[in-house]
Amino acid sequence: MPLDAIDPEAGYRAWVEQYLWHIDQLPNVVEASGTVALATHGLKAAQLKERVSGGGYIDNIPVVDGPESRNARAVWDTLRAYLTAASSRIGVEAPNLPPMLPDDVAAARWWAFAANEWLADRVHVILDHQDLAPLEDQLFRLIRRARTQHGTPVVRRQPAELCMVCGVQGVAVDWVTGGDGRATLARTCRECGDVQMGTEKKEQDR
Ligand SMILES: [Zn+2]
Repeated sequence: MPLDAIDPEAGYRAWVEQYLWHIDQLPNVVEASGTVALATHGLKAAQLKERVSGGGYIDNIPVVDGPESRNARAVWDTLRAYLTAASSRIGVEAPNLPPMLPDDVAAARWWAFAANEWLADRVHVILDHQDLAPLEDQLFRLIRRARTQHGTPVVRRQPAELCMVCGVQGVAVDWVTGGDGRATLARTCRECGDVQMGTEKKEQDR
């Protein structure tokens, strides 16, 4: 029996929970991906400088464009686009992120936190705007990918749930990318290690 048949509010609550879970990861994800991109950039620039030095003055180190900086920029650019779209749909001014991911990682984190707060305050209004879903899915996929890549600590609003296997209240609820590329619920017990891949989501319940 579908969950909605038992509790009509369940699909709605699941949607809100997955939404908040994703946007709550923004500060850590933006900070981690920005840090890695900067470190890699610095390293490559230094190597390049070493390679071409010995022949006089170098005033222009080419910008190194690697996968790390592309990934960090993808999260930033998509978040910025999503905020602009959401703001125009609901008619409330959103944090106006700088057009480029700031080199200052602390500043980038601060902006991501401002975005997180703004979106969390408006999740119940955003729910009504179906046309935001494609950009939202894209942003959330990037968030899950960056979180996994950098192993950033997960921020959760939900308290640990009771484990049906060992009986300890130690089950963390996360969203991961399933085989179909969509967000899938993962319940992991820190006590006994039991993992349940849930099916209770859903963008289609929106
Ligand atoms: Zn357990």
